[in-house]
Amino acid sequence: MPQIYTPFALKLHAYGLMRVLDPNWSGLDLFDFLKRYARKRETPYFFHHFEERGILFHLGLFIFEEFVNCDNRFEIQDCEDLAWYLDTLVGFLIAGEVSPNDKWIRRTKTVTEFFDSIYDASNEEDYYRRLDRARHTLHRLYDEITITHSDKIKELASAYAANYSDRVLHDRQLCAFIAQLLIVIGFNGNDDLEGNPQQWVRRKNIPAWAKKAIYSRDRGKCAICNTDILFELSENDHIDHIIPLARGGCNDIVNLQLLCQKCNLKKSDTLQEVTSSIPPYIARRL
Ligand SMILES: [Zn+2]
Repeated sequence: MPQIYTPFALKLHAYGLMRVLDPNWSGLDLFDFLKRYARKRETPYFFHHFEERGILFHLGLFIFEEFVNCDNRFEIQDCEDLAWYLDTLVGFLIAGEVSPNDKWIRRTKTVTEFFDSIYDASNEEDYYRRLDRARHTLHRLYDEITITHSDKIKELASAYAANYSDRVLHDRQLCAFIAQLLIVIGFNGNDDLEGNPQQWVRRKNIPAWAKKAIYSRDRGKCAICNTDILFELSENDHIDHIIPLARGGCNDIVNLQLLCQKCNLKKSDTLQEVTSSIPPYIARRL
């Protein structure tokens, strides 16, 4: 089984954050991309049904594709960035079961290890000059490695998109941001969250796998008042749409959280600020 290479997965997540928060990109490219999936069926099925590989997975595929294949990214990167990137790419491919003896893997490793070895903090200028002279070589290595292993890269896309999706789901505030972004970019045809509610998303039963994921992410606690509701869970569902369906929120796991009955009733169809799902591991004095 191919392994997930952690440095690559973390950089993918960081890249994803950057893209989701980029107003130009999220406004147009994300819209176009997700629309392709939405058009696959007669209606924008993301918003009517619960797809096990929902929005976050498809967002992960998009981010993966860009992160690996976008040549334009390197126009703004310096040679050191490119050398670091190649190093991560090699680790990613080896973890994906490409042989470390593959011609382009070996050549790339030789070059990146060479630059690692010549770095000298007292003479950075020389280091950067030599890196700059290797610009053509670094680009050539990038091209060869991504062309030679394009099938492998495609094969690994799903595993990394799923990994990306899990990382994002862990963070309830980020999920809420993405759920809101989907409305802002116009999927419900109305960019005004306070305006007339859109009623076209149908209420559907939330499938067991989605409930399980949300119970686990929210640790059996109400996302608003933090009450432990683990023992109530068998009797009632307690799953809440962060952005209510009546306000154009989607039927996707990205838009769900756990609420106790009291908070659920109080919240109804209103929008409320989302609390963090990431526990404070260390109590800090501010
Ligand atoms: Zn509560």
